[in-house]
Amino acid sequence: MSNAFEYIDRNAERVFSDIAKAKEKSPYGQNVTLLAATKYACAEEINYLCNNCGVHDIGENRVQQLLEKYDKLDKDKMNIHFIGSLQKNKVKYIIDKVCLIHSVDSVELACEINKCAKKIGRVMDILVEINIGREESKGGIMPEQTEKFLEEISAFEHVRVRGIMTMAPKTDEKAEYRKYFAETYNIFIDILQKKLHNIYEPVLSMGMSNSFPEAISEGATLVRVGSALFEHN
Ligand SMILES: *Cc1c(COP(=O)(O)O)cnc(C)c1O
Repeated sequence: MSNAFEYIDRNAERVFSDIAKAKEKSPYGQNVTLLAATKYACAEEINYLCNNCGVHDIGENRVQQLLEKYDKLDKDKMNIHFIGSLQKNKVKYIIDKVCLIHSVDSVELACEINKCAKKIGRVMDILVEINIGREESKGGIMPEQTEKFLEEISAFEHVRVRGIMTMAPKTDEKAEYRKYFAETYNIFIDILQKKLHNIYEPVLSMGMSNSFPEAISEGATLVRVGSALFEHN
């Protein structure tokens, strides 16, 4: 019987195998979650991936796209994350739909998440996004601001920081990627020791299709992979 989604099987198999190889090279022995970044995928593809290929975490980076796909998703088969930059006025649309917001980079945004989470009686897990390449075009706080930022949002009782996220600058040099990921790992360890020592299963979200093996060897616990899972080949 022909299977229209066979390419997803093949892609997932390859990505899982690359993750396993990278874990062998990691000195940290960490568990790694594969999150499927779903901006290139329709609901049917996402459902196929989560029902058949061993992926249980997906991430949308646009609120509108998440809302459009939401009703069609097999939600009991997946944890839905929000991974893109988030406008304050859209928090209310996703607060009851996602398990983790990866991209918190302002006190105002954290404050709004706190308010919306309180309203529905939940505590929202978040990651602090760090702009490790100091790129003007990108969101995220500057690396040296991390500790201060954590202090500033620590009063929000309906927000729980689970770790950090970064988007490394695009490059063709694998060594460049490793440098940015290693820097991010150091910040992660530093704040775990100082601020987040009692956090359950801390998350270090870094690495995409062209960089996830490097991210894993530098300590990532979650990689966000889009095109490598959904491309037709
Ligand atoms: C699209 C996206 C990814 C995945 O990118 P690929 O290069 O397709 O793997 C990861 N993180 C975020 C925030 C994204 O928007």
